[in-house]
Amino acid sequence: MTDLKLFNSLTRKLEPFTPVHAGEARVYTCGPTVYNYQHIGNMRAYVFADTLGRTLQWKGYKLTHVVNITDVGHLTSDADEGEDKMERMAAREGKSAWDIARFYQEDFERDLARLNVQPKQHPRATEYVDAMIEWGKSIADKHCYELESGLYFDVATVADYGRLARAVTEDGEGRIESVEGKRNAADFAIWRKTPAGETRQMEWDSPWGRGAPGWHLECSVMGEALLGFPFDIHTGGIDHREIHHPNEIAQNQAFCCTNGLDDPKNSGAKIWMHNNFLVERSGKMSKSSGEFLRLQLLVDKGYHPLAYRMMCLQAHYRSELEFSWEGLGAALTRLKRMVMGVEKLRARLPGAGRDPAHLGPGLRRGDEWGKLRPTLDKFDAAMADDLNTAVALTALDDVLAAKMVDTDLKAELAAAMDAVLGLNLFDLTREDLRIRPKSATITEAKIELSLLKRNIARVNRDFATSDLIRDELGAAGVEVMDGDPLGWEWRLAS
Ligand code: AMP
Ligand code: ZN
Repeated sequence: MTDLKLFNSLTRKLEPFTPVHAGEARVYTCGPTVYNYQHIGNMRAYVFADTLGRTLQWKGYKLTHVVNITDVGHLTSDADEGEDKMERMAAREGKSAWDIARFYQEDFERDLARLNVQPKQHPRATEYVDAMIEWGKSIADKHCYELESGLYFDVATVADYGRLARAVTEDGEGRIESVEGKRNAADFAIWRKTPAGETRQMEWDSPWGRGAPGWHLECSVMGEALLGFPFDIHTGGIDHREIHHPNEIAQNQAFCCTNGLDDPKNSGAKIWMHNNFLVERSGKMSKSSGEFLRLQLLVDKGYHPLAYRMMCLQAHYRSELEFSWEGLGAALTRLKRMVMGVEKLRARLPGAGRDPAHLGPGLRRGDEWGKLRPTLDKFDAAMADDLNTAVALTALDDVLAAKMVDTDLKAELAAAMDAVLGLNLFDLTREDLRIRPKSATITEAKIELSLLKRNIARVNRDFATSDLIRDELGAAGVEVMDGDPLGWEWRLAS
């Protein structure tokens, strides 16, 4: 088995994974701000983090994985300035900020489940406000200063500020709105005071007045509280590499009284990992664009959510991925091929379950894999090489295509690989993967019955009836696909 190497954004190098606590892996992933639905770009960040978690389990580590829920409204810019997103949405929808947060958290968790993301810990920022105030108190004297609008962190008080971003210059920070009186352009809020004469739905008392914590603080506090410093891996989307994570790191350095970042663990985590963006040319990814690209939109158009997971896995997490409906269709076809590949193996699957934590270490057995051994090694080496999922998928293809091998072994290996990739192949059926848009009204039973009648007509060489049935189905939006090599038989036009 190959040793796991991961790309550390802090050093910009591939590094071996060596756990802080023997046998364990502790991972923190920046979670969503629950003031709106997540778009599929956001979901790429969680598919990546989940695949990382599964890989760590495959490698035999006991995983603790936290994905926080930002339910305190933070502001419209990453520098924590501008309008409060949660309060703005509450006003727009005529609900309380707390209701908004619960509603969108539930929607987020539903999307995670649909993408077969393993359950994780989801602490809410509002549950940690007291701890945030304590943290603020502990660093205020040495690292912060107060302005009328709140308590600010002075980034000049820690060594190597902004190393993660590699681009913190006065120029680079010019894009951040400035607050009168800030010492450095990059200084950020630890506590935001509610402006005089205003009341917020979400506000708390603090030594710096009534108000709310700055956004960056919550991840430092929850990471430390739930995983302990240093923990193993911190993840997020690549935009967080520029502002949010440098600020988290600065807070962590201040809190731990540690110096420079030549030793990455002084940052609070040993490895910082970032997924690149999912992009879409027409701008449908933006939440401000009306109907934006949510997982539900894919489902409404008839695509199974796991086709989107497949699409993510086909690209490396550090590459930009362009979304297109054609690309999603191709990913769905690939998923269907794999589901057909495991159909014959289902009955052979050992009863031990398909948990990567069980299957990874459980698989480490001598030479009994025989002809399948090189494929297992290929898969393991691909995942160990900074999660090269694209190559790992080809190893899974190889297993499914393998001839003259023991079927039980083949089933076990395919299930183990699937447990790492999270495609849920052994539970999906061809029917699940049929393109079935929400707008379709015809029932599957009706389609199947018509197709049966049509087949009988064809057997009887009654081509007039057969064509008639085909046309009737066509009028109901059902495209009959005679002789389709994938065996789709029919699909609903989207
Ligand atoms: P947010 O709710 O804005 O904090 O975003 C949640 C997560 O999604 C963060 O890790 C972001 O970095 C990530 N993210 C935002 N947009 C994209 C995108 N287009 N592609 C991939 N990840 C994204
Ligand atoms: Zn965060």
